[in-house]
Amino acid sequence: MADDPPALRPESRVVHPSPPNPTSGAVMPGIEVSTTFARDEQYDLLNRHHAYIRDENPTFRLAETVLTELEHGSDTLLFSSGMAAGMAIVQALAPGDQIVVPEVMYWSLRNWMEDFSAKWGIGLVKFDGSDPGAAPQALADALANPTTGARRVVWLESPANPVWNLIDIEACARVAHGKGAIVVCDATAATPVLTRPLDLGADIVMHSATKYLNGHSDVLAGALITREKTPFWRLVKRARAENGAILGSFEAWLLQRGMRTLFLRVRAASANALQIARHFESHPRVERVLYPGLPSHPGHEIALRQMHGGFGGMLSLLVKGGADAALATIGRCKLFVRATSIGGVESLIEHRPTIEGPRSPIPQNLLRISVGIEAVEDLIADLEQALD
Ligand code: PLP
Repeated sequence: MADDPPALRPESRVVHPSPPNPTSGAVMPGIEVSTTFARDEQYDLLNRHHAYIRDENPTFRLAETVLTELEHGSDTLLFSSGMAAGMAIVQALAPGDQIVVPEVMYWSLRNWMEDFSAKWGIGLVKFDGSDPGAAPQALADALANPTTGARRVVWLESPANPVWNLIDIEACARVAHGKGAIVVCDATAATPVLTRPLDLGADIVMHSATKYLNGHSDVLAGALITREKTPFWRLVKRARAENGAILGSFEAWLLQRGMRTLFLRVRAASANALQIARHFESHPRVERVLYPGLPSHPGHEIALRQMHGGFGGMLSLLVKGGADAALATIGRCKLFVRATSIGGVESLIEHRPTIEGPRSPIPQNLLRISVGIEAVEDLIADLEQALD
């Protein structure tokens, strides 16, 4: 009997999402557009996995399979957006259940969680995750609050938008599991290239696949990957199917195409971001550079342990002179595009407080930068002239 081929490294796996089509010989996978799937004369489904597109679709199943392998999970669900993926977790909870969230996390999801949990009778408790050494204890204190429901979810995000706080996933998962809580980690900014939260004890990983996973700023998508197919996972899957929060076939196809270059893109963006962070750390017009790859960042020690092969492409600059100076700087950028979002091949810059609005706890002089894969010399030159 021939030996099994060795398991592919993830860099190779993403390049080969499926073997060539045995009938047509096509190297690239096709797009399945059918919304419904046929049954035979006995009324059995021709393919037992496919009945109706709101539950399953071969095109998004392909991208899901690749993500399951990348994250070392047992199943993946793709969603119509990162927000929809996060919402499905909360919608799988019942009145009386509890969700424990860090004070600084992706703002739109935090705002929605606050509003929805109040309406739905879910307890929402916040903990201070900003001091990486103290965060596990802060989480333990937050979990000391009693809950009347059967389930508790602890939400983590690492690195966390927009100050790039690192959270010790392993230590927090230990604390959460000690209280019987389910741990969900938004690892959008880290990507499976740099961090695998399931290996560190998280139960579910979440991604806005709109960002690095797709990488070309042309698909809105979200993903959840689970370590085990638990009863809670089945509730999440039901929430997706009943909300119809699924990914369209074309978007799923674009996503698998984008993921083929995931490793190259993330490594290039991380290398650029590190150079930019080092260059501007001592700039006279910059108060502070927030980047986990810098020893001055409070999360650096954890980043060294938890992130492998780079510190990601996201960084923030605190510009001297407050909001006015930050807005003037951004107005002078020529190569950086003034736009929100992260993880595309093109570099973006934004005045984050304008985007987040009055509920935001972040400093008024913060410019959030998503570093792309352009020549780093061009990026540094653009920021230099903009800060001048
Ligand atoms: N999580 C993080 C860290 C994000 O940055 C975003 C969007 O910016 C989301 C979740 C929401 O994802 P989407 O825009 O795909 O709904």
